Amino acid sequence: MITVVGSYNLDMTFKLNHFPIPGETVFAQEVRVGHGGKGSNQAVSASRLGARARFVGAVGNDANGKNAINFLSSEGVDTSCVRVKNAHTGSAYILLNGGGETMIVVNRGANYELTPEDLDGCLEGKVLLTQLEIREDVVKRALSGFSGIRILNPAPAELNDVEILNYVDILTPNEVEFQEISNSDDMSYGAQILLKRVKRAVIVTLGENGAIIYTKSKSVRIPTIKVNPVDTTGAGDVFNAALAVFLERDYDLETAVEKANIIASYSVTTYGALGPTWKEIKEKYPEI
Ligand code: ADP
Repeated sequence: MITVVGSYNLDMTFKLNHFPIPGETVFAQEVRVGHGGKGSNQAVSASRLGARARFVGAVGNDANGKNAINFLSSEGVDTSCVRVKNAHTGSAYILLNGGGETMIVVNRGANYELTPEDLDGCLEGKVLLTQLEIREDVVKRALSGFSGIRILNPAPAELNDVEILNYVDILTPNEVEFQEISNSDDMSYGAQILLKRVKRAVIVTLGENGAIIYTKSKSVRIPTIKVNPVDTTGAGDVFNAALAVFLERDYDLETAVEKANIIASYSVTTYGALGPTWKEIKEKYPEI
């Protein structure tokens, strides 16, 4: 089983001609409402690839919270460790202007009500996947209380307690997150600094250029396939989910990254932050 400890947000995207200035009201051209939050995205994407996935997180005692649990269940995700809090379900308001720029407001809501004690009895399975959209004390408890493979996707890249890294086997930042977490522009130097704490590997995802794996002894660039991207939102979420899935299936790190690249790259050719099903990916790439 893959256990994902993280956030759920209801994402609302408003397409506008222009951003409002203070005091101005603008009307949306188009509105899209969807399930989001890195934790939820990663749990659903892992489940779609055929893994048993459990989501450990918190929603509010409102209609959005009920919808979230129904959605996760309908995707085959184990929701036995989803806590219902006396709070609003997390939500994100994404304004998108004509130039493709975004302004985002997030209400963390119930996500920030999740406590370390809420994880009791929930940290089972072979792979743990977590991110930084929930409280750091919860992330630390998740990582330190888990006995399998522990992956931290450090997004967003705000980490105050660097001791958290001592409990991480594999760290998976994208390029921007890598710079923020390592405080360095030099990737191989920064990776070695992080590897003083991180146990096994730092994997930096590089968008269309695939990913690079740093271990204490070497670095390996793993290129990805060429695609025509239509929506790169959530590419990192799909990559992390797929990496967890292939590590759970006992592939070595390089092979797991190769396969996770293919799945993440395929996902940017379709809309939405969620990845493909195993059936879809096998039809497109039978050799995977
Ligand atoms: P994030 O979504 O967190 O910013 P990246 O942009 O690094 O992360 O993307 C994660 C993975 O998704 C990459 O390692 C790659 O496999 C795939 N990917 C992302 N963008 C593209 C692209 N334009 N073409 C092909 N693959 C992509």
